[in-house]
Amino acid sequence: MRLARRLFAGYALVITVLVILVVVLSGQRLARQLLARETDQLAREARFVAAQWVPGADADVLAHTAGAALDHRVTLIDPTGRVIGDSDFQADALAQLENHSTRPEVVAARRAGTGVAKRPSVSRGDSELYVAVRAPLGVARVSVSTAAFGAIVSGERIDVLWSALLALVAALGLTFAFARAVSRPIVELRDVAQGLAAGDLARRPSLSASGEIGDLGTAMHRMAEQLAGRLSELQAEQDLLAAAIESLHEGLLAVNAHRQVVRLNESARRLLRAARPVPFSTDLLPRDAVLREALSRALAGEGAGPLEATVEGRTLSVTARPLGDGGAVLALLDLTATRRLEAVRRDFVANVSHELKTPLTVIGGFAETLAADDVPLAQRMQFAEAIRTNTERMRRIVDDLLDLSRIESGGWRPNPVMVNVQTVADEVFAATRRALPENAAGVRLATDIGARAPLAYADPTALRQVLTNLVDNAVRYTPAGGTVTVFTAPDGDGHGTWVGVRDSGIGIATEHLSRIFERFYRVDPSRARDAGGTGLGLAIVRHLVEAHGGRVEAESIVGRGTMVRALFPTAGERAAPPAAPSTVTPS
Ligand code: ADP
Repeated sequence: MRLARRLFAGYALVITVLVILVVVLSGQRLARQLLARETDQLAREARFVAAQWVPGADADVLAHTAGAALDHRVTLIDPTGRVIGDSDFQADALAQLENHSTRPEVVAARRAGTGVAKRPSVSRGDSELYVAVRAPLGVARVSVSTAAFGAIVSGERIDVLWSALLALVAALGLTFAFARAVSRPIVELRDVAQGLAAGDLARRPSLSASGEIGDLGTAMHRMAEQLAGRLSELQAEQDLLAAAIESLHEGLLAVNAHRQVVRLNESARRLLRAARPVPFSTDLLPRDAVLREALSRALAGEGAGPLEATVEGRTLSVTARPLGDGGAVLALLDLTATRRLEAVRRDFVANVSHELKTPLTVIGGFAETLAADDVPLAQRMQFAEAIRTNTERMRRIVDDLLDLSRIESGGWRPNPVMVNVQTVADEVFAATRRALPENAAGVRLATDIGARAPLAYADPTALRQVLTNLVDNAVRYTPAGGTVTVFTAPDGDGHGTWVGVRDSGIGIATEHLSRIFERFYRVDPSRARDAGGTGLGLAIVRHLVEAHGGRVEAESIVGRGTMVRALFPTAGERAAPPAAPSTVTPS
């Protein structure tokens, strides 16, 4: 209520000054009026005394009689200025009185008929009001002590003062009420404005005031409405922008001029492994020279990129652009998968070229030799057979590559049904015996079909190819006298059926086990080639099984044997994303 206090103090000061002024002025006016009335009265009395003062009358007696009757001092002065009668003095004391011819009222009365003077009395010693009139026998003068009407004036003044005090108290009370009434809506408006400034946009003035303050309230009401509307529009825009930035696959990072990261989206957090809340210093970003250089250049006002940086083991394309306020924005694109794919593609082309080059060289060599005339028939037959074998090998590689690319490109979709694994295993065994008669002859082919899982939910053709590849491998890498077993088992979690092949062959060393499902990966390249492998068999198995929503696993002990198995999920479990093949090597 500071405003109310100030208003009150201002009004109180003005009112008090006015009251004091009124009291002082009215006192002076009263004194003047009293003096004038008293002067008139004394003049009438003096004229009355002058009328009584006739020749032969005893001036002293007259002065005493008139003085007693009028209750005023009456003095009679002869033309020489000598006092010949005075109501305040006895006859014998008159001779001691001064000559009065120079008294101002006497001088004025002689000259103009009436003389008035207010001065201290030489004979009585106090302040007196004298009125003298010219009489035929001299000058008649009536006087009164001013102390008498001084008392009247101060009495009147006290009355005025009391009423002024009363008026002052009443005025102050009214002023106080008025100050409160005026300041209340202003104080309310101030509170509302402060609330709005502090962000409480629901605050509104009560609009109860009238006049200019009411208009101010209405204007503030409208202003608050507009502010709230604009803010909610801004908020909606901000939310939209934030959602758009968050949904970007690209990482976005905003840095202010003080090198503080003020915003980064989820992708940027993931790529830079930055979990802390914003704002935080750019010093806490990964210490990659390219990233920091791009940031420094953008903060210095020039753009940078796209540059390639390796951050936290990922290949990132970094583009930095300066912002108007001295900050910078960084866009990060994850190139890891692209670069890896490029590397895989390069390796693949190199591998395929290498795989095809060997048989082509052999074929070319034999063809040249055959072109000579002097090759004996037996050798010709041998060379022709070598050409045929290598052609067959190239055909297998090309067939496998075509299969693989068909499955990988997503052009092939499994058509799963419940398949009896025993039936498929029997067909595969028969085919293997035909295809690899030498290897299969010395190896026992058996099945271990679990009573609880005789069926697998799989595409029959795909399952046949999976088992053919696994059984072929097992037969090829199992010396004579060994056993190759096709088995099934229900998945522990009840998600599907494992179908696999176990052998008692040479086994695979731990360092190779995790890589045997890669294309063209061979544990012992020359031996595998001799054994007729393309290096693509397990890659095809993996892709076929993953197309079913399943996964592959391998376990092996060198010299004891290998187990490779595939999980075919039951219907309804297909949504599971393909997982990387897991390999376990029991110690
Ligand atoms: P390949 O056609 O050469 O057999 P795969 O992709 O089928 O190619 O197998 C990859 C490599 O894994 C083979 O070269 C071989 O070294 C190894 N391998 C696969 N199965 C077995 C197994 N049952 N016993 C031992 N090694 C195996």
